Amino acid sequence: MAEPLLQVEGLKKYFPIRRGLLSRTVGHVKAVDGISFSVNAGEVLGLVGESGCGKTTTGRCVLRLIEPTAGSIRFEGREVTTLNKRDLRALRRQMQIVFQDPYSSLNPRLTVGSMLGEALSIHQIARGQKARDRVAELLTLVGLSPSHARRYPHEFSGGQRQRIGVARALAVSPRLIVADEPVSALDVSIQAQIINLLRDLQRKMNLTYLFVAHDLSVVEHISDRVAVMYLGKIVELAGSIELYRNARHPYSASLLSAIPVPDPDRRRQRIVLQGDVPSPARPPSGCRFHPRCFMAKEICAREEPELREIAPHHWSACHFAERLLPGVDPVSLATGGVAEGGGPPQPSAAAPASTF
Ligand code: SF4
Repeated sequence: MAEPLLQVEGLKKYFPIRRGLLSRTVGHVKAVDGISFSVNAGEVLGLVGESGCGKTTTGRCVLRLIEPTAGSIRFEGREVTTLNKRDLRALRRQMQIVFQDPYSSLNPRLTVGSMLGEALSIHQIARGQKARDRVAELLTLVGLSPSHARRYPHEFSGGQRQRIGVARALAVSPRLIVADEPVSALDVSIQAQIINLLRDLQRKMNLTYLFVAHDLSVVEHISDRVAVMYLGKIVELAGSIELYRNARHPYSASLLSAIPVPDPDRRRQRIVLQGDVPSPARPPSGCRFHPRCFMAKEICAREEPELREIAPHHWSACHFAERLLPGVDPVSLATGGVAEGGGPPQPSAAAPASTF
């Protein structure tokens, strides 16, 4: 079997917490805490979770926009974490990012043409007329007009600005794109357009995406596989269709229950999680999800569940993943729980009967 384009093993990113006059390190925020995954060439891996789960940090570590604390990142079999600056710059041609906020990621003082031309020039891809032709080609590719090259970022709408962000990422013909919540700053009506654009480009150019999002519904139609993150860990990893049909982790089940079903005859019982994500500086003992889990039992606060393969190509980090079988309403599995402070979260009483 061919080696994955991207292979991440045991990745950790801890941010020090400093206090006092001497800025002593008094603890660490464990933003990413030992995760492993791979992305094959031409594949889209969705990385999903609530704010603060470590998904954006993971994407940035992969590109070494921030330095990982530990772990291995291999791109085309080559270790990325030990590359020197020169080699890393060369590698950046292969790995690009589309940022969440298209406005703040574009230089307001440069026209779109200059911005894209700069990327082509830095990587010694094209200059002069050749670069101008390539800019026109890129703008057309992302659904804009070549004449837009003369305009400045503030002259575009949010969706158009994100198209420019995509064009900039494509300028260097990368193999991997980290799409860091590329639609979450956009109006709902525009989100689908950008997702469709990214999907079309991926198919046309056989691109590989690590697609970061906080909402499972965003990655549903674009991802081949989905990894769900919670508090710095991957808690479930499966093929997209499999995960949407048969989530085998209570956290994924709760995220899925929040997605509206576009069918008036079908309803899904909403699982409302209580409280916020705990601080990654002091993650809960055992299973990190246990204070919010509707299926938690005593063992969950004591023993951390491993991410294990519970069905072919389906991984879950839950002691009771086997109980979440196809057709079983996860809400019916709710237990008395072991929640700390306030009791276990409950499914929404107002919600109608489940067809999950
Ligand atoms: Fe974690 Fe236990 Fe809930 Fe599984 S049942 S997600 S192990 S708290």
